[in-house]
Amino acid sequence: MSLAVVGVLSLQMSFINNSRRLNEEQFDKHVAAGMKKVAELLENVENVQVSRYANGYSIRQFEADTNGNFRYQQQIVLSNDPSVLRQTMEAVHLKQEMFNTPIEERIEVIRLDRFLKDELGTEIPFSYGVWSNPLNSFVIYNNHYVVPNESQAGYNYLKSSSYKTKLFPNDIINIPGTLYVFFPTKSAHVWGRLWLDLLMSLLFTAIILASFAYTISVILQQKKLSEMKNDFINNMTHEFKTPIATISLASDSIINPSVIGNPDKVKRFAHIISQENKRMHGQVEKVLQMALVERGRIKLNFTDVNIHQVIEQAVGNMALQVERKEGTISAHLNAEKYYIEGDLNHISNIINNLLDNANKYSPENPDITVSTVNKSNGIEITVSDKGIGMTKEAKKRIFEKFYRVHTGNLHDVKGFGLGLAYVKAMVTAHKGSVDVKSELGKGSSFILLFPFKAGQTVEEE
Ligand code: ADP
Repeated sequence: MSLAVVGVLSLQMSFINNSRRLNEEQFDKHVAAGMKKVAELLENVENVQVSRYANGYSIRQFEADTNGNFRYQQQIVLSNDPSVLRQTMEAVHLKQEMFNTPIEERIEVIRLDRFLKDELGTEIPFSYGVWSNPLNSFVIYNNHYVVPNESQAGYNYLKSSSYKTKLFPNDIINIPGTLYVFFPTKSAHVWGRLWLDLLMSLLFTAIILASFAYTISVILQQKKLSEMKNDFINNMTHEFKTPIATISLASDSIINPSVIGNPDKVKRFAHIISQENKRMHGQVEKVLQMALVERGRIKLNFTDVNIHQVIEQAVGNMALQVERKEGTISAHLNAEKYYIEGDLNHISNIINNLLDNANKYSPENPDITVSTVNKSNGIEITVSDKGIGMTKEAKKRIFEKFYRVHTGNLHDVKGFGLGLAYVKAMVTAHKGSVDVKSELGKGSSFILLFPFKAGQTVEEE
């Protein structure tokens, strides 16, 4: 697609450039023809004047051949009329005198101005000047004469114009001067409607590129989501496989004739089945909670919750697991006002999730602290660990559903990537906030802020 867009764009550019070139060529041709005509007309006028002066009526022209000799109109030469011949010779003489006359005296400014306007048209503004070769300066500029020793700097732009034509090119001795024309608005004229074409094609290309970029970003997003969902399904299957296998093994054992008669063994296997069942139930519960959050069907059951009690209970539950990994877990409950309005069940889930993560993501000797402190509008709970920490990129995304950090040594840490998404959804439902500070390899801190009053009662007040 990029290739096609670039192709179309360059084709269009080349079309537009071709059109511009054609316009310019056409313009150049028109100007060149017009200027040649003007030079011819000026010469004709002079010839006519010379002839009139010489014989009173002839408007025949003189022409010089390549050797610089005059070639007369044949009828005149063949007329055999001595008076015509004499007058013609006089005209030749006069014309020759003209060669020595300065160019500014051979051109009538008003006539030149009219010829130029007739031939070039008045649509496109232009300025012009007549350059005198012997004086080496401009002698006529637009419709006035120029004092030859006047500074020529102002006419430099005219001198460098590519539109020029020799004046009186048929003079045999020297070419006396050059006519220069300059079009200040030439490029605007050449571009004409092409600007619009160019702008439109750029605009449409930009639209195509923008839609393309949008499509690609949506595809990438979808791809990521589908990868995360795949991971989730793999994780879930994996998580369920172990309890299912254990339950199957335990139940097989119970049916075994050597076991069924032994109440102690039956009890032990039944206990295993019940434990594994609880584990599965817990996992299913997690997924279901998230599904509820997703459908926007969270029903909060507001009561006065003693945050410190909830934390102590959660820390107590976690202590066993942490100690098994030779770690420590402690609580610094400094808040003086520790009752908030909230849903006990969800708040306890939130704390448990954070403690669970702090333990899971501390591979060796977890060092977990939970602290509380009062803020002006509520209570702040911080759960810190000295575990693996996370990158900035991960920090931005951990609250997304199904998001899990993929690193080589993390594969054995089990999870659905739903815990923090749930935490976020629930804290938000309590009108609180959650923030994370973390450094890779050093540990993480999750900071929760719960307002004292959050539920419907607050809104009704
Ligand atoms: P799970 O733990 O099931 O993968 P979570 O939503 O609880 O899902 O966490 C999302 C991701 O955030 C985890 O996969 C992990 O990479 C990262 N994470 C969460 N808590 C911590 C922590 N305390 N230390 C380091 N990384 C963490």
